[in-house]
Amino acid sequence: MTQDNRAVRSGVGRRDGNLTPAGAAERARAGQRPALGADGVWALWLIVLGGVVLVGVFWAGVLIKVEAEAELEQRAIDRRTMNLARVFEEHTIRTLGAVDQALLFVKFQYEKEGDALDIASAVQQGMIVSTLYNQVGVINREGIYHLSNLAELKRVDLRDREHFRVHVDQDTRAFFVSKPVLGRASGKWSVQMTRRINQPDGSFGGVAVISIDPFYFTSLYNDVDVGRHGVVTLVGLDGVVRARRAGDAVDVGQDVSKSALFRSIEQRSSGHVSGPSPIDGRDRMYSYRTLAGMPMVVMVGVDREEVMADFMARRQGYFSFALGMSLVIAGFCALSLWLVQRQRRIARRLVEMRERAESANRLKSEFLASVSHELRTPLNGVIGYAELLKDLSEDAELRSYAGVIFESSQHLLALLNSILDLARVEAGGMQLSPAPVDVAGLVGEVGATYQAMAQGKGLELVCSAPEGLTVECDRLRVVQVLNNLVHNALKFTSAGGVWLSARVEDARCVLEVSDSGCGIPAELHEAVFERFRQVDAFETRSQGGTGLGLALCRELAGLMGGSVTVQSQPGEGSVFRFALPLAAEKSRQ
Ligand code: ADP
Repeated sequence: MTQDNRAVRSGVGRRDGNLTPAGAAERARAGQRPALGADGVWALWLIVLGGVVLVGVFWAGVLIKVEAEAELEQRAIDRRTMNLARVFEEHTIRTLGAVDQALLFVKFQYEKEGDALDIASAVQQGMIVSTLYNQVGVINREGIYHLSNLAELKRVDLRDREHFRVHVDQDTRAFFVSKPVLGRASGKWSVQMTRRINQPDGSFGGVAVISIDPFYFTSLYNDVDVGRHGVVTLVGLDGVVRARRAGDAVDVGQDVSKSALFRSIEQRSSGHVSGPSPIDGRDRMYSYRTLAGMPMVVMVGVDREEVMADFMARRQGYFSFALGMSLVIAGFCALSLWLVQRQRRIARRLVEMRERAESANRLKSEFLASVSHELRTPLNGVIGYAELLKDLSEDAELRSYAGVIFESSQHLLALLNSILDLARVEAGGMQLSPAPVDVAGLVGEVGATYQAMAQGKGLELVCSAPEGLTVECDRLRVVQVLNNLVHNALKFTSAGGVWLSARVEDARCVLEVSDSGCGIPAELHEAVFERFRQVDAFETRSQGGTGLGLALCRELAGLMGGSVTVQSQPGEGSVFRFALPLAAEKSRQ
């Protein structure tokens, strides 16, 4: 085994900087990714980012929609409760006005008539409207409940009560509304409304008093719909509840002055507030109005949970929808990620396979080149001695045997040369040496080489080329291609001739070899350029063909930036066109 052969066998991993199959696999294992891999990573990030942005935009849209609906809902509720508060205010003002009318009547009558005033008969005669109150009467100067519309008068001492004391020291001429009290006379919860009675000299003469059922104010609750947990409240600016109704529960007397809700009411005379009730803790939305000229505030509140129930259900629907869509987007992204990953895996495998195939092909070419080279040396010895025997032997039979050996060895050498050339082109080992070449001289030289063969077959061989046409090319390789084409033309022509011509066409030099030979069927025009493909193997073999000539022509032409094409029909001869660039391309030099 020669030195070169050993080198081929031992160079499995890496040879001349080229990657072998084992090397490609090793690189794949080491995780080196081809350029496609980097693109794939971007695609993955893009999908993830796109998914996140899409989900974000979707949720932002849903939240904006929910927010807008919540605001609309809130405004509608505020409008409704404010309208009810206005009605409540009207109702309260009218009630208080009517009570004050009655008080003024009692005050003036008492100032006129004194203890002779008969309140019961005034009520009976309709001078005092009686539907509003529990009791109407007079507290004398000493603070004793003194006159009343009720038949049975309990003369209770009321000196300590606020609604008496506020009038004793000065005449404010004001109408007073007390905090709810448990009446000593009536025994019921009542709100006392009073006016001062003067003596003729202007000094304190007693107090006209009407006690009212506080829930008369909140009777409005029965006429309007504020929901099951809604509330209607009349509260003094002192923070004490005069009357309150929420559902079936009625309350009076709570002091809510310390609550956050009440403090925000104090800021403005009317408006909207919301928050937990200081009495029952329910979260409500209120509208309130302060009565003009009265230290009283009317409030109408609705339970947030109750009135927002429809909206909350809608909101839940939107959120479920958004969640569903998010899952769909996430699913879609996951699927895309999976597909891209799969695509990347396939691409990676394809690259690895291509690298392996290329490497294997290179290895094969290197091996062939090496083997061909090793075979040529002994073959030249065989050819030399066969020729000697053929020419010098005295024995005619021996000479004939030696002739066969000589012919066969020549054929084998041609085959080896073609294999070697093809292998070198494939392995990238064929170097070109371009130089300006006179085409006419080159055509003449090829013609001269084959003139004898043409004559031997009784064929004419005509060569023509324009004078002065120069092409920058590798002369040796162009001659090699032309020799092949002319040799083939002569080989497959039995009558007529072969014509070799040159011309310039589309800025290229076209060298044309035509013949009047057997021709090639159209379906084999491309096949004849494949290795070892012959139109008629028997015929070709008889002509000494290898089936590699045209394949090598095409490879060499391609290497020089040119091409080889065929035009032919069976029985009508063939035309092979070898086109070359006029100037050699820089990269090929
Ligand atoms: P070979 O060494 O067999 O000639 P080639 O690659 O040069 O190999 O040619 C391939 C086949 O193309 C030939 O075997 C032959 O069948 C066909 N061929 C090539 N040139 C001609 C031609 N001028 N006329 C007819 N057939 C041709």
